[in-house]
Amino acid sequence: MTQYPHLLAPLDLGFTTLKNRVLMGSMHTGLEETKDWNRVAEFYAERARGDVALMVTGGIGPNLEGSVLPGAAMMTTQDDVKNHSVVTDRVHEAGGKIAMQILHAGRYAYGPACVAPSPVKSPISPFPPAELDEEGIEKQIADIVNAAVLAQRAGYDGVEIMGSEGYFLNQFIVTHTNKREDRWGGSYENRIRLPIEVVRRTREAVGTNFIIIYRLSMIDLVPNGSTMAEVIQLAKAVEKAGATIINSGIGWHEARIPTIATSVPRRAFAWVTQKLMGHVSIPVITSNRINTPQVAEDVLAEGCADMVSMARPMLADSHFVQKAAQGNAAQIAPCIACNQACLDHTFGGKLTSCLVNPRACHEEELAITKAAQQKSIAIVGAGPAGLSTAITCAERGHVVTVFDKAAEIGGQLNLAKQIPGKEEFWGFVEWYRTMMDVHGITVKLDTVATPDMLDDFDEVIIATGVAPRDPGIPGQDRDNVVSYIDILKGHHTAGKRVAVIGAGGIGFDVSEFLVHEGTSLTESLPEWMTEWGVADPSEHRAGLAPEGPQPHAPAREVTLLQRKAEKHGKRLGKTTGWIHRAALKMKEVNFVGGVNYERIDDAGLHISFGEARENPHVIEVDTVVLCAGQEPLRVLADQLETAGKTVHVIGGADVASELDAKRAINQGTRLAATL
Ligand code: NAP
Ligand code: SF4
Repeated sequence: MTQYPHLLAPLDLGFTTLKNRVLMGSMHTGLEETKDWNRVAEFYAERARGDVALMVTGGIGPNLEGSVLPGAAMMTTQDDVKNHSVVTDRVHEAGGKIAMQILHAGRYAYGPACVAPSPVKSPISPFPPAELDEEGIEKQIADIVNAAVLAQRAGYDGVEIMGSEGYFLNQFIVTHTNKREDRWGGSYENRIRLPIEVVRRTREAVGTNFIIIYRLSMIDLVPNGSTMAEVIQLAKAVEKAGATIINSGIGWHEARIPTIATSVPRRAFAWVTQKLMGHVSIPVITSNRINTPQVAEDVLAEGCADMVSMARPMLADSHFVQKAAQGNAAQIAPCIACNQACLDHTFGGKLTSCLVNPRACHEEELAITKAAQQKSIAIVGAGPAGLSTAITCAERGHVVTVFDKAAEIGGQLNLAKQIPGKEEFWGFVEWYRTMMDVHGITVKLDTVATPDMLDDFDEVIIATGVAPRDPGIPGQDRDNVVSYIDILKGHHTAGKRVAVIGAGGIGFDVSEFLVHEGTSLTESLPEWMTEWGVADPSEHRAGLAPEGPQPHAPAREVTLLQRKAEKHGKRLGKTTGWIHRAALKMKEVNFVGGVNYERIDDAGLHISFGEARENPHVIEVDTVVLCAGQEPLRVLADQLETAGKTVHVIGGADVASELDAKRAINQGTRLAATL
């Protein structure tokens, strides 16, 4: 008897059956744009082999004006059909099913040709859209239907029509973006005419035995968005027009409420999808922050939906479903919802990958094969760099020993997991622990590795990490000046007024830690909703609380300082930096930039501004926390190299500047693949 009976139950769609209740949600990986269709095919086939029931491709444009970017993948020609057939064939050979997402971006299209119901520029694009006339609207419908017909010809099992997240069809539904007075604007019936027409004509064109998923915005989270009654009305009309499945969209891209970041509680929006259940007779999918089989099972068992969509978790582990079905859920590499290698890459114009799994989207190039010759490998340092290296070495058949001077594995991840909103790191460290056991890796904790202990190994890998940088501020040896490590390990409790020196990732994290007390908001959905101003869309239009965000009072008065004069958090993740900034602003954290640190004394932290050291003054604080970056810890590496030994140095011990777990894990995995 499986632990996940709801998750693993097949779903009969009448003309075809899905083998379980897991949909791999659409992701813009950038793979389709490489035009290397074998590589695209391998990405999806690998996930099909992992037993996900149905996958949705990244958004494919139906025409030039609707494509997300100039050069983005489209489905408009016979060549496109031929290329996509490589993907569908490979997926079918692997026993999977795949639907192509048709994405018309409307005013979100990042190019001068973009079109929309009304000429209302989006806050997240510099391009003002042209208003469509009747003929223009008919062209868009015809192009979307054409893309669906071509997708069917290319062998797809279905299409997903993207109607949420503030894209083209969604823009017609909401008065904020639809100011029209013709039959496509005005009343709600008129505003939903376009999505319904698109579904109706698509069904007419593709016949009955073809999946049409309609992705419907269940909670817009932008002013003038839909009410739940309107959402239900649209869902019923979409069903009548011929959709096979309704998928949930949560929030427009321009919404200022986080919807998928790691600080969003797990399954935070399943209750919204649940409100649709019973109103339509076709299957309904829920989405967002579902990242373990148990969470997915609970959501389904509670009747929130008929299926769950997981996208990023399928990057972290292509065999998520298979491992769950085999009773090996603890071995599923967890998606920690960091966005660092997926969405941040997408929005930075880079190919998607995954922090936890650097092989994601690099399946062919980063192959993990059995080593020709088994070696004994020593790895010093049990942080993410060392542990990931250990796993890949062991997968390749090597005999691995990991040393760490600490009493537990995880390195800096153990600091990260203390931050409110970063609870996913607990599971990440737990996964590493499981994998050490699964692969029979010897882990020697509380052990300071010395050169002679490493003599007998075939390969030695140094992953000793980093040490905090000494900022050399006069007075920093005072008792009330501490490092982030002292704070996060609980060795020191900060006073009520705190200055944080350094506004990098760690300075932001430590500030977050200092302004919160009690249960993390991420662990309490009602409190998180109050904090960010999320309401029930049955009561308040678009799910926006009329009173707006209602942050809890900060636990401390925090000043976050940096020497650079640039905006605080400018170098944080592209898709999450705004959340960190907004969260600290809500807690009244004072951002001070362009400073010189003069000294620390009884009065507090003395600063001045700019090269001329102007405007000297003192920030009166009880505690100063140093988060001034890191330096490589290379003592052992240097000793070994001086003794003439060949060693591999990875992670922070190699280069500490702008180090993050993504780079460390990628470097370690790639090294391990070659040994
Ligand atoms: P960091 O991002 O390099 O930031 C170091 C901070 O210290 C900067 O604000 C820098 O700003 C300041 N600084 C540098 N040298 C200084 C000096 N001599 N005296 C005073 N201040 C100095 O490093 P980090 O915050 O330690 O983070 C380490 C890595 O972990 C980063 O790559 C970071 O991205 C990653 N991380 C990421 C997250 C995330 O949310 N994605 C969270 C935590 C950590 P000024 O030079 O302007 O003063
Ligand atoms: Fe998840 Fe982070 Fe990997 Fe993206 S990069 S899939 S958010 S773990």
